[in-house]
Amino acid sequence: MNIYADNRMLSLGLVGGTVSRHAGNMRTADAQAAVYQQLNIPAKQILHFHQTHSDRIIRIASDADALAFQNQPEQEADAWLFSCGGWGAAILTADCVPLFLWDETASVFALAHCGWRGVVGQLPYKTARAMKDAGAQGTLYGWLGPHIQSCCFEVQQDVAAQFSAQSVIHKDGKIFVNLNTEILLQLQLAGLNAADVKTPYYCTCGDKENFFSWRRDHVKDSLLSFIYKP
Ligand SMILES: [Zn+2]
Repeated sequence: MNIYADNRMLSLGLVGGTVSRHAGNMRTADAQAAVYQQLNIPAKQILHFHQTHSDRIIRIASDADALAFQNQPEQEADAWLFSCGGWGAAILTADCVPLFLWDETASVFALAHCGWRGVVGQLPYKTARAMKDAGAQGTLYGWLGPHIQSCCFEVQQDVAAQFSAQSVIHKDGKIFVNLNTEILLQLQLAGLNAADVKTPYYCTCGDKENFFSWRRDHVKDSLLSFIYKP
């Protein structure tokens, strides 16, 4: 398996990234546990929620918060925000954007599941703002993991109308949305510098060898993204 990750984040001691499809479909706890075992990450320290394309953020600021969350399985949310170590979290995607955010001391970090509905619902902006509220220090950094890129993300006008004009591409009578552009706009609005947010061009829909894609295959196989601070 390959893990796509940002070296700036790893160099601060955070562990995480997006795992290629070679590790298998990650929709079961067992499949995820096998990945964590290979990486020497304690699976029980990695939290999970039920994703619903919402703008709800789960905040974990202490061991007590994490333990309380563990006792309430199947909570619905789409972003994680940590301001303590010893814990991490996972999300599942298959075209949606795994958005990683962290501050310059890695004392506050976040992982958001951003489908187009979550982006329209301002989840990237709200997550970055919530990091500042949680005490994020200095510069905030961002990295967008593998997701459906504008080459493949064709939409109808009703969806396109919900995005900024800069994010919508008209080509050969078709309409495409660039989620990178839209998320970057929101993060800048939240105070991040464009130069501190990296948007590598890994297209889940276009790269069948490495990624699952709902748009391409219409099956519910999912990629794992996770973030963890030992
Ligand atoms: Zn593509």
